[in-house]
Amino acid sequence: MADEKKVRKPHQEVPRGLARITNIIAIGSGKGGVGKSTVSTNFAIALAKTGAKVGLMDADIYGPSQPEMLGMNKQPEVRGDFLMPLEKHGIKFISIGLLLDPEQPVIWRGPMASRMIQQFLGNVMWGDLDYLIVDLPPGSGDVQITLAQQASLTGAIIVTTPQQVALGVAQKGLEMFRHVNVPILGIIENMSGFTCPKCGENTAIFKQGGGEQMAKDLKIEFLGGIPLDPNLMSSGDDGSPLMVKPNDTPAYKAINDITNKFKEMMAKGVEKAYEPSDIQKTGDGAIEITWPDGKKEIFKAYDMRVNCPCAVCISEETGERTLDPKSIPLDISIGAFQRIGNYAVSVVFSDGHETGIYKFDKLSELQKKQKDAADSTFEV
Ligand code: ADP
Repeated sequence: MADEKKVRKPHQEVPRGLARITNIIAIGSGKGGVGKSTVSTNFAIALAKTGAKVGLMDADIYGPSQPEMLGMNKQPEVRGDFLMPLEKHGIKFISIGLLLDPEQPVIWRGPMASRMIQQFLGNVMWGDLDYLIVDLPPGSGDVQITLAQQASLTGAIIVTTPQQVALGVAQKGLEMFRHVNVPILGIIENMSGFTCPKCGENTAIFKQGGGEQMAKDLKIEFLGGIPLDPNLMSSGDDGSPLMVKPNDTPAYKAINDITNKFKEMMAKGVEKAYEPSDIQKTGDGAIEITWPDGKKEIFKAYDMRVNCPCAVCISEETGERTLDPKSIPLDISIGAFQRIGNYAVSVVFSDGHETGIYKFDKLSELQKKQKDAADSTFEV
């Protein structure tokens, strides 16, 4: 059974539907059409074949393709406030495509996309899972940020093709995950050469090795390459993905190798995001953070409030602070706080201000800045 403690961190509200999932893995890409959904589906099925309990969440709101790829498109059952995921080919899955009218184009604006994804995260009853694979839309927008805030992601895998242009955008997607302190578990290079089914010769149609080079340059694990393989495409179109039945295609072998490498990596233990092991409110309305090395730091409410990074307190256009520190009462305190994903804490102050999200790395910087200022004040 999945270990609940692995996803639940102190002071993080974990959506109920996600509470019994051990690892949440996001699959992202810089741009569309690189095969992210094909890789997510086949990787999820390959993982399930190793004996793991696997769920697949199709969060690609701009082009949901899992119902077609998995060959199942029916309304999920509703139980109370929850949607029950469908089950096919040994995995549980849910897709935004199951809930939309395929004839109606949907134009998602930012807040709508975030709300949809929040509902999706909170209201699907997955039950016990070893892995939830999340197929993200391409790029680095509202869906990715909402996911990083609401779910405690174990890490992200980036799918890219070998061309330079795809690599450039993949790197941007990757930076977004780093920004929100989500570990990058590895890079998969899709459409990595073409193996001729007749003579077995491999041709690098879109070049080859770019993803591996990128992984090396950025010191990230290279999980492997998947060749262009017509079987992978046709099986996706038929609703019976390539990994469902053992076969001797190059893509089948490649995805199995990637899955084995991934499982070995998980068994060794992935590098955890550097984030507090605990956060507590102190008696005088400050917060105390315990870092993974055991060091504790106190963040006073006044210091946090005058350094609030939100758009109300800092001009989005000029980056200048618009908040007048004199307007903040010296005895301000913190009423409540909540952990945001792996990377930040949000705070409700006694003056009612509640829009600040304090990134953990920025809090450490703030502490250092204040200590340096205090040291220089007392220098003789
Ligand atoms: P994305 O999710 O990145 O937009 P898809 O997974 O929908 O991309 O893939 C786009 C198209 O490319 C689909 O028709 C899919 O079948 C095909 N495709 C993906 N990877 C491969 C591959 N390695 N070999 C052959 N066709 C592929």
